[in-house]
Order: sequence, then C-alpha cells, then structure tokens
Amino acid sequence: MSSNLRIIRICEQCGIEFEARKTTSKTCSDDCAKRAYKARKRAEKVEGSNKQVERIKAKPIEDLKAQVYLTVDETARLIRISRRTLYRMNERGELRFVKLGRRTVIPRLDIDRLFEQPKSVSRPMTVVIQLSDCYTMKEVIQKYGISEKALHNLIRRNEIPKQYNGIYAYVPKFRIDQLLSPTVTPS
Ligand SMILES: [Zn+2]
Repeated sequence: MSSNLRIIRICEQCGIEFEARKTTSKTCSDDCAKRAYKARKRAEKVEGSNKQVERIKAKPIEDLKAQVYLTVDETARLIRISRRTLYRMNERGELRFVKLGRRTVIPRLDIDRLFEQPKSVSRPMTVVIQLSDCYTMKEVIQKYGISEKALHNLIRRNEIPKQYNGIYAYVPKFRIDQLLSPTVTPS
C-alpha cells in the first residue's frame, strides 16, 4: 500500500521546496546536505575561536606568569607587545619558538630572559672607598688580634674589595668591623 502522504520541506541550504523521504530531512539533496554540514562546521569553528579569544582574554596575568609555556597570544598579552613584534624577534633569533604538536609556544624562561640585565662580568663594578675609610692589613691584625692567614681567608670568603697604595693593601673599615667587631651579631 503506497502512502499518498507527502512530506514537504524547505531545504535549509538552498531554500527550495522538496519532497522529503524522512521527516528528519533538512536538505533537498546530498549536495545541499554536504554544503549545510560544511557551513555548520565553519560556524562551530568560528565560535570556537571566538571562545578561545575570550578565554585568553579572561585569563588573569598571574596565571600566565605561572605557566611553563605560553602561546604567542599569551606572551603578547603578558609583556604587552604585538604578535607581529614577537614573530620579528623570533626571526632575528632573539626569541625561541617551540613547536608543541601543532601549537607554537614560547618557554616562560625565555620570556623572563628578555628582561634580564646584561651580565655584570662585562662591566666590573669599581668600588671607590677613601683610604681614610680603610684599614691596612697590619691594622686589622693588630686591632682584632687575628692571624694574617685568617685575615686573608676572611677577605677572600667575604669578597671584600682590596685597594693598593704603594706596597700596602687596604680594606674597607666598615666591612671588617661588620665581620669582626664583637658588638655586631654575625649574620
Ligand atoms: Zn537544497
């Protein structure tokens, strides 16, 4: 027995009327079904990427600081520079990009390194202390009653700067007093 009940639908893709074989049909043809599917996927993707942007924006800076790896977007947010600048820095070899699967990430340590002071070895610090504010070795030995060897060890261990004037070596009084004076509690 053939049913003369016809299901008439409007294709959601092309908008024409069609006779559906199933009540669930939404498109007139395989072609429209495929195109409708693709459109749906595209919409999902756009929504997903919008959500991702929102998620990144909502992520507090503090969270970013605690991460081992940051995406390019997160890095740009954290240090307030553009993605374009980050890519340029990468091209110049100033910033390493790491591929984690399909993602490009930047190690947190490398980001921190961008802000480090140049190493102090390149410009040694010169301490200028007036000789009147210094002891000679002999003065320290006499004042504190320690041996010459103990004094040399003390100077080396505490990296006390020595100055020379003629044959005499001078050391800053305040450093020596700090270390040897019994009135000051040693740290
Ligand atoms: Zn159609």
